[in-house]
Amino acid sequence: MPTPAYDETNIFAKILRGEVPCLKVYEDDVALAFMDIMPQADGHVLVLPKSPARNILDADPQMLGQLIARVQNIARAVKEALAADGITILQYNEPAGGQTVFHLHFHIVPRWTGVVLRPHTGAAERPEVLEAFRRKIVAALKPL
Ligand code: AMP
Repeated sequence: MPTPAYDETNIFAKILRGEVPCLKVYEDDVALAFMDIMPQADGHVLVLPKSPARNILDADPQMLGQLIARVQNIARAVKEALAADGITILQYNEPAGGQTVFHLHFHIVPRWTGVVLRPHTGAAERPEVLEAFRRKIVAALKPL
């Protein structure tokens, strides 16, 4: 089965166009990062490219190189800000692969020894809680 075409009505495309708000962590000409509203752990951040890609299967490799450098930099800030023991990076492709929003994104999920992940697309977190984590992460971010 070929990868379906990019659909610009997806929720992340709307966030990128400024039509839907987000709790922004980082933005430059390549990427936007914001808090996941249904976090699998405290401090769960999503990083997406500004250019349209449905997922990793149709993404431009050069863009992926630039994007992963942002993922690494933000992951370092998340680990420091949340005093995490580790970080899990997740990236889902197509419905059978667990993808629910069809604009490429990487999940940065802080981990602590013995703490189990909450479900993918589970309960929504309160905005004030997300905002508190967002502030800490932004404060820990270093220039690329
Ligand atoms: P997936 O496409 O399965 O990799 O996951 C999409 C992720 O986006 C899930 O973790 C959702 O909790 C998250 N999500 C969905 N809508 C929003 C939104 N409006 N703002 C922030 N995160 C979102």
